[in-house]
Amino acid sequence: MQTHGHWIGGRSIAAERHIPVINPSDGHAFARIARGGQAEIDAAVRAAQAALDGPWGRLSATERGRLLTRLATLIERDAEALAQAESRDVGKPIRQARADATACARYFEFYGSSADKMHGDTIPYADGMTVLTVWEPHGVTGHIVPWNYPMQIVGRSVGAALAMGNACVLKPAEDASLSSLMLAELAAEAGFPEGVWNVVTGLGEEAGAALTAHPGISHVSFTGSPEVGTLVQAAAARNTIPVTLELGGKSPQLVFQDADLDTAAATVMNGIIQNAGQTCSAGSRVLVQAGIFDRFVADLAGRFGRLEAGPAERDLDLGPVVNADQQKRVNGFLDFARNDGLNLAGRGRIASNAPEGGYYVQPTLLADVAPTHRLAQEEVFGPVLTAIRFTDEAEALAIANGTQFGLVAGVWTADIGRAMRLSRGIKAGQVFVNNYGAGGGVELPFGGVKRSGHGREKGFAALAGFAALKTIAIRHG
Ligand code: NAD
Repeated sequence: MQTHGHWIGGRSIAAERHIPVINPSDGHAFARIARGGQAEIDAAVRAAQAALDGPWGRLSATERGRLLTRLATLIERDAEALAQAESRDVGKPIRQARADATACARYFEFYGSSADKMHGDTIPYADGMTVLTVWEPHGVTGHIVPWNYPMQIVGRSVGAALAMGNACVLKPAEDASLSSLMLAELAAEAGFPEGVWNVVTGLGEEAGAALTAHPGISHVSFTGSPEVGTLVQAAAARNTIPVTLELGGKSPQLVFQDADLDTAAATVMNGIIQNAGQTCSAGSRVLVQAGIFDRFVADLAGRFGRLEAGPAERDLDLGPVVNADQQKRVNGFLDFARNDGLNLAGRGRIASNAPEGGYYVQPTLLADVAPTHRLAQEEVFGPVLTAIRFTDEAEALAIANGTQFGLVAGVWTADIGRAMRLSRGIKAGQVFVNNYGAGGGVELPFGGVKRSGHGREKGFAALAGFAALKTIAIRHG
């Protein structure tokens, strides 16, 4: 069984304590990762600060960009190995893991080419003075990553942070650390100076809490649950440092009767079964106009009936969920739904030969659910879709906005006026019209409002979050 150390100061550091790495497809441990805490976080922050004080801090933006671009090429070279590791680590069907590896490379390519495009202004001010602004890195940035899309989330947050000249300490999720360690080794091969990219693996309440409370970091980028996000923001407040919080959602897809219903149904399905529903932006509520509700929901129910969940390597519609707790959580929601008399209108199946110990759940469509019901309000984080009926645009908007979250929304309609009104009226970080997710383009800024978080990652907009704007005013006569 392979044992993985931390990655600190450009090399692997062995640990005394470990966490087993379990394959969610069969429940068996196949490796061990290091279980770090305060001491390893201290060492990683010191290594990152040394990199900033050393060669990394003196590189030009163009040189930083070149390193990022070189890393993108190495990720493409090793994409299959990265995808295989991720798929085994988190139970993601291999095709989806391959797409994550491709997206990860694309983030580094994008931020590699952005590094020297982020420049300041000169500001007309007083006679005899020149005022200019420059972007400066925060310093050591902390990155706390969840288990659902580790490669993509590392790509978008570490990529942008390094483009702006920060040095990173990364704490991946205990359920999905392998790809972060592999990427750190590739960064070393690409030529990043030691200490620029550090990875401390371990538990959230140990390594994660130590990182977010560390006085040596100047920014935290957190992607994960709203509950932990609140703790992270409180820890950051004690050191008065900025945070980016990418949290959960209960994202609505609004389907009007004038929409292309076939495309809408296929896309709604993909939006809830991708990664077994363990996607922050999962479209977990489908709001359907009354005139087409029965027909549309029957179509979805048929599609659910054809779904099959099984081992990641079989590349079926869904893999397992990530761990036993997550399986219990999803099944708990489904038991609640059944006991509360909800209509389980469509159910997929678990492949008959799926290993006994795997963490499989049955994808489920719940029909005609009240907008205020627990299953229409809380994030299940599993392949469970809640269908809600509405009569007109005003009611659809009220239901769409009627949760504590505001991450993503989809609007399906042929009426451009309605599409524009809803795009502005829906309280969410992003609205997609007649599509959902726009293919995940790395160029598109991404983030939430309300309890879905704040700050933006992805795209050019993310760069400002990883840097401080300095104003320089020179009186020269
Ligand atoms: P989580 O909050 O349990 O864990 C996320 C990370 O935080 C892990 O690395 C974990 O080890 C760490 N952590 C846990 N406790 C900590 C603490 N006290 N201090 C510091 N770090 C701590 O979330 P999860 O279960 O891994 O992921 C699921 C959640 O993430 C869902 O709510 C989902 O919607 C959200 N998510 C959001 C986005 C987004 O971009 N908005 C993307 C992916 C996932």
